[in-house]
Amino acid sequence: MALWKCSKCGSTKESRCKPKKCPSCGEMETMCKEESMTSGEAKGGCKAQGTCKKKAS
Ligand SMILES: [Zn+2]
Repeated sequence: MALWKCSKCGSTKESRCKPKKCPSCGEMETMCKEESMTSGEAKGGCKAQGTCKKKAS
């Protein structure tokens, strides 16, 4: 299980796959993977989109 954190509101959510939107603020594409979780379950499963692309202003 991976932990995902919203880059907007800071809310975290446990999920194997990257949440499409934040369950807290509802913002899309703001969930970034938190690497603090243990276990080696990073492989397999869904595509690990570890990078959180912020629009550089
Ligand atoms: Zn959020």
